[in-house]
Amino acid sequence: MPQSIIVVGSSNTDMVIKSEKFPVPGETLLGGEFFLFPGGKGANQAVAAARLGGKVIFVARVGNDIFGDQARQQFKAEGIITDYIVKDSDRPSGVALITVDSKGENTIVVAQGSNGALSSDDVESASKEFEKSDIVLTQLETPLPTILHVAKLAGKFGKKMILNPAPAAPLPPELFPYLYLITPNETETEVLTGIKIKDEASIRQAAQKLKEKGVANVIITLGSEGAYLFSDGAGKLVPSQKVKAIDTTAAGDVFNGALAVALSENKTLEQAVEFANHAGAISVTKMGAQASAPFRKELTTNL
Ligand code: ADP
Repeated sequence: MPQSIIVVGSSNTDMVIKSEKFPVPGETLLGGEFFLFPGGKGANQAVAAARLGGKVIFVARVGNDIFGDQARQQFKAEGIITDYIVKDSDRPSGVALITVDSKGENTIVVAQGSNGALSSDDVESASKEFEKSDIVLTQLETPLPTILHVAKLAGKFGKKMILNPAPAAPLPPELFPYLYLITPNETETEVLTGIKIKDEASIRQAAQKLKEKGVANVIITLGSEGAYLFSDGAGKLVPSQKVKAIDTTAAGDVFNGALAVALSENKTLEQAVEFANHAGAISVTKMGAQASAPFRKELTTNL
């Protein structure tokens, strides 16, 4: 019987305008097409996990506005439990304003809004779910004191805490010993360890350094190369599938959501990495963030 997964994190609405070029300061441009996408790392990972069959409880904060209401409806439609999504009456929902130019480059400004107020009390209100669940997954679009509280609560109930340390940021030393698993990509690994990833020796060295900080297990994601698992003193590169990548947005989010699902089904860490690589590889063959998260039936693995 799979255990439930608690995802604590951000929910944003991404607003994208395509434009020939970027405006210069003071300029107003008539752009091209406009798109509205659900986003935010927490929401992306919650949706990815739910589509792969995870029983997901999402702890988040949205504003009392149409974006927050729409996000909640979308989470419900994905089968996510939304009882612990707090409606903030003082702050708007998180939004990202994205401009994409004719070369495909982008500029992004994020107003984190209610995400920045996701509090230890919000987490505490889901305490009984922490007790019942098995896996806790969070990222760094939530205030650090709240993340530390999540880690302590997961620790109190002996649950497996996964931290996807994205976007890259330094972390307080006291957080590491609470982590069952940390899942940085190459940039995030460098920010956390000071080691630049260039070959297998540097990957191993960085993983070892994270382990020395007190994390139980380390997975460094390596894009098209797959991911490096460091567990029980041994490191192993688990390759991803060869695919034709179209859009790598949110590959890491799909990978982390999938990892949580596999662990909630009591798969081994190595099986979980294979499963997550597979889901991550499928996601890069499709456009979008949540839109690219595969459903379980799309997977062709026996895991
Ligand atoms: P992020 O999106 O956080 O930068 P990565 O680029 O490391 O993270 O991608 C996360 C995971 O997604 C990888 O470990 C791999 O499993 C999968 N992935 C990403 N890009 C590709 C690709 N081009 N081909 C196959 N798998 C990929």
